[in-house]
Amino acid sequence: MAFEKQVLTCTNCGAPIQNLNPRAKTSVCPSCGAQLDLTSKDYQVLGHFQKHRIKFPINIGWEGTYQGEKIRVIGHIRYAEQGDKWDEFLLISEGGRTLWLQIDEGKPTFFETITPLEIIIPDQIKTHVKIAGRNEVVVERGYARIVMIDGELTWKCKKNDSVGYIDTQHYSIEYTDKEIEVYEKIPTSWKELKQIFGKLNQTAYTGDVGAGKQEVRSGPGAVGCITIIIFVAIFLLIGAAMSRCGGGISGGSYSGGRSSFGSSFGGK
Ligand SMILES: [Zn+2]
Repeated sequence: MAFEKQVLTCTNCGAPIQNLNPRAKTSVCPSCGAQLDLTSKDYQVLGHFQKHRIKFPINIGWEGTYQGEKIRVIGHIRYAEQGDKWDEFLLISEGGRTLWLQIDEGKPTFFETITPLEIIIPDQIKTHVKIAGRNEVVVERGYARIVMIDGELTWKCKKNDSVGYIDTQHYSIEYTDKEIEVYEKIPTSWKELKQIFGKLNQTAYTGDVGAGKQEVRSGPGAVGCITIIIFVAIFLLIGAAMSRCGGGISGGSYSGGRSSFGSSFGGK
């Protein structure tokens, strides 16, 4: 069985858009970045979007093998919440399985859509929630904003939309005022992802996985450590300079310290 292709015409610019997921509700034009509402008859433009140039570990269009099935990366959403950013890639299998690959703080996790027996009403969830018969503890919740969107999505969504989420140990609930999705978390690693796709783009997250070495747990975390070490070193230097100057805070050495601090963080 092969992926069935459907070709649409962009409402905004007329370019062809290939769709693979029959359940897609949003499709982003690869030429102009317009977000089209596939649930409307004439594929209404939900939003316009300027392309970013960010390198991700995987790309839309990549194919691989996951648990014996052929899978393909078809969509991507980048979320932001108070300075935190994370990415979710949508994957479909030839058998119709839908998986999201989340990359949060350099850590990859699969999320598979499930249909729980329970009726889940996000507003009524407090500290616990019963999902698939398990009594789950709420570990995190909030609202994330979509800052980047690409490919085909199973949500009807556009840039700047807000999505509510509630995370428990084993599940994640994502919701808007119209839709709700429940996912089961499936742990994965950069090593497994490299086996699935046969390759990975070299990024801060994947570290030296591409070079065939051991998996790097958290690229950004490692950078953070180096920053702290530099920061401490600068403080020690300032301290040494100040004691030599007899405690006088000279403008020169102090502002020098500040700018080093700024640039080391800026380089993160
Ligand atoms: Zn277009």
